[in-house]
Amino acid sequence: MLSDVIVVGGGLMGCSVAYRLAKDGAKVTVLERSVPGAEASSAAAGILGPTIESFDDAFALQLGRRSRELHAELAEELDEYFGIDVGFRRCGVIKIAFDDKELGELERQAESLRVQGIRCQRWGPEELARQEPNCSPEALGALSMAEDAQVEPRKLLSAVALGAEREGVTFRTGTTVRAIDLEGGRARGVRLGKESLHAERVVVAAGSWTTLIPGLPFDSETIYPVRGQMITTETRPPIFRRIVFGAGGYVVTRPDGRVLCGSTMERVGFQRGITFGGMADVIEKATRIAPSLRNAPIKSHWSSFRPGTPDGLPLVGESRVEGLFIASGHYRNGILLAPLTAELIADAMSGAPQSREAQALSPKRFEEPAT
Ligand SMILES: Cc1cc2nc3c(=O)[nH]c(=O)nc-3n(C[C@H](O)[C@H](O)[C@H](O)COP(=O)(O)OP(=O)(O)OC[C@H]3O[C@@H](n4cnc5c(N)ncnc54)[C@H](O)[C@@H]3O)c2cc1C
Repeated sequence: MLSDVIVVGGGLMGCSVAYRLAKDGAKVTVLERSVPGAEASSAAAGILGPTIESFDDAFALQLGRRSRELHAELAEELDEYFGIDVGFRRCGVIKIAFDDKELGELERQAESLRVQGIRCQRWGPEELARQEPNCSPEALGALSMAEDAQVEPRKLLSAVALGAEREGVTFRTGTTVRAIDLEGGRARGVRLGKESLHAERVVVAAGSWTTLIPGLPFDSETIYPVRGQMITTETRPPIFRRIVFGAGGYVVTRPDGRVLCGSTMERVGFQRGITFGGMADVIEKATRIAPSLRNAPIKSHWSSFRPGTPDGLPLVGESRVEGLFIASGHYRNGILLAPLTAELIADAMSGAPQSREAQALSPKRFEEPAT
């Protein structure tokens, strides 16, 4: 079988890249060992929060803000074409402080954002109680960043996968890629056990498992799993209007009252599952933010693996192996950065001059120079 592009992995990254490339006219096949969205992309909270995640890194902040705005456009497009509401809402994010040290950190964060031209507001305890009455009365203040947003990752994944299919992308589920096929120093396709599939270009978007695939020019540790455990509940009326960070955790509220509480950050390899310790940690943080959650029923819990990288930035673009592209390693911000990643991969394939972003995210920074 011949296709222009093979995408390995049907998470949000693989589906977004496939959708984008197919819209540009490429013939794309996505190979997914399970089903689309089987891993991290369905486990995420859906916070599109560059001002909270990257306030102290001007470059990451700029990437995140750009991608957040691409999400707004994508949400409109998916609604218009497929009638699917992916839950994009510019609900804003607040971070609350419980002691003087944390208040000092809020000040530092506010200053850093203001220097970069981002509007944010400092609230004292009275204003916080007025704006978000379910926040802990022990909170001494908050920093509010109104431009950040949320999306529902599972709805987004389904909509993007549907969009990709409508654009002619072929999905092969239950298909594990065993190795990248290399010939004459360039990628020629992939191996699936005895079968080989040929393509002039291969995009590896296999999340935490990316650098385990034989044939990639990286050390297998270049992308590593960081487990995150989550708990969900529901409240009527919805507990918060905004996403609330504090006490080392966060609480994300959907407009219908669903609540997601997260999350742990564990280097435990690929050990699946949830633990007593992980649940206790998430519950402690969430109930510190919102004491009334103590009475809320636990509706569900899960865990998955964020794809971490040594420098905290993803690997996006062509590797030193011609025809072999990487779209992985997005760690805590893969939902946020998916639309931008798809755009950067499309640019790289079109041979457009490399932007500053593309250079900084290039997978080549982790490869041994070719001998
Ligand atoms: C608890 C938690 C909360 C999070 N919250 C947020 C958030 O609020 N905002 C945000 O922006 N990000 C968040 N993230 C991070 C985000 O979920 C990830 O960065 C993102 O989903 C990564 O997407 P991906 O497509 O690269 O990986 P994945 O979704 O993991 O997809 C990789 C896919 O590749 C497939 N695959 C692997 N190996 C092979 C192979 N050999 N052959 C074929 N298929 C293969 C897998 O089955 C999988 O479906 C969170 C993550 C976790 C765990």
